[in-house]
Amino acid sequence: MDLNYTEAEIAFRDEVRAFIKAKLPDHLVDQSKLGTSLTKADYEEWHAILNAQGWLAPNWPKEFGGAAWNAVERHIFEDEMTKANAPRVVPFGLSMLGPVLQAFGSKEQQDYYLPRILNGDDWWCQGYSEPGAGSDLASVRTSAVRDGDHYIVNGQKTWTTLGQYANKIFCLVRTSKEGKPQQGISFLLIDMDTPGIEVRPIVLIDGTPEVNEVFFDNVKVPVENLVGEENKGWTYAKYLLTHERTNIAGVGFANAGLQNLKRIARLEQSGGRPLIENPHFAARIARVEMDLMAMSTTNLRVVSQAAAGQAPGAESSMLKIKGTIIRQEINALTRNAVGPYAMPFASEALDEGSNEEPVGPDYAAPATAQYLNNRKLSIFGGSNEIQRGIITKAILEL
Ligand SMILES: Cc1cc2nc3c(=O)[nH]c(=O)nc-3n(C[C@H](O)[C@H](O)[C@H](O)COP(=O)(O)OP(=O)(O)OC[C@H]3O[C@@H](n4cnc5c(N)ncnc54)[C@H](O)[C@@H]3O)c2cc1C
Repeated sequence: MDLNYTEAEIAFRDEVRAFIKAKLPDHLVDQSKLGTSLTKADYEEWHAILNAQGWLAPNWPKEFGGAAWNAVERHIFEDEMTKANAPRVVPFGLSMLGPVLQAFGSKEQQDYYLPRILNGDDWWCQGYSEPGAGSDLASVRTSAVRDGDHYIVNGQKTWTTLGQYANKIFCLVRTSKEGKPQQGISFLLIDMDTPGIEVRPIVLIDGTPEVNEVFFDNVKVPVENLVGEENKGWTYAKYLLTHERTNIAGVGFANAGLQNLKRIARLEQSGGRPLIENPHFAARIARVEMDLMAMSTTNLRVVSQAAAGQAPGAESSMLKIKGTIIRQEINALTRNAVGPYAMPFASEALDEGSNEEPVGPDYAAPATAQYLNNRKLSIFGGSNEIQRGIITKAILEL
């Protein structure tokens, strides 16, 4: 297996670099570097720039307006974007719903929704999890009962990321209680403006309302908003999750975090010398860097297998666990590096335009909030315990 880039891949990488240099706005880079939260307008600005270039949907086929890149091109793009501190692309419409509609949606749904995802007309959120249905997703209870040409939806979703910005939600709903729980689930597209929907913020440990609870009280949804067939939603839901877990290792994010950590460790002092020269601290950075290099190689191996037509299997569970541990360790080391300046918990430091003067250097202000926020990495997208269960069964065959 050759892990080096081909000439064509190097040319592609240079094209991506040139685009970033010309088009990535400085203010978005500054926000990423300082770790401030992006607003809806920031995300929309970046999406529009990528869309104008035809690069907003790297994984979509050309017929739907995507870039149709292979796995290696997507990897290069992701890598360059995170190294340049570009904002992430919000995944719900682009990486999750888009592929489901392309595979299972009706022609009308594809024609209507896919261009709206690219143009930024719709902001989608994901209504999978419920209280009592997280890891055990098949036990969703939110019901959709057919009434003429509508479904009447009742129930509750939870942990809905950025649902406060969304005008649409894709939901798993229970349309039958017969048979196995997986057999009575349908996949429904719901307009967030429909009467009977209430969104309540959940404030996370870092002080941000990044996730929400969404309540449905006799919400009328037209039957044409059903994706595919009634009671077949589990198949579509699982298909979506394979897309949700792409690039789950977060190699690019870890690289960017490591560079930031090293920058801080050069600026901070320990015993009159730069912290990065402290043997104990340098050893901890070296360990996380070695782990990251090993994971990047595994990631490239998986990417190169995918480029050769093989689907990543349980390796993505390995990457999820290791990637999470590495990013959380980088967050911990960053807190260590800023020392006492990590003590004041300045959650407002994450807000763009915050006029609170940081007590220490500006790079120290978000360190604790980021450390706390990234506790989520080992939970969402399938918790690390669940991933370990998958490895036990699929790789170790225990
Ligand atoms: C910040 C954040 C954002 C999220 N965003 C979204 C979103 O936008 N949309 C959405 O639908 N969902 C979202 N989620 C939900 C996420 O997918 C679930 O939190 C996750 O699947 C775990 O489910 P749970 O929280 O119900 O925990 P539970 O399933 O109740 O698990 C609790 C603990 O028990 C462990 N556990 C459970 N079952 C097993 C088992 N069989 N073996 C070993 N250990 C087990 C878990 O690993 C965990 O540690 C988000 C979650 C977070 C934290």
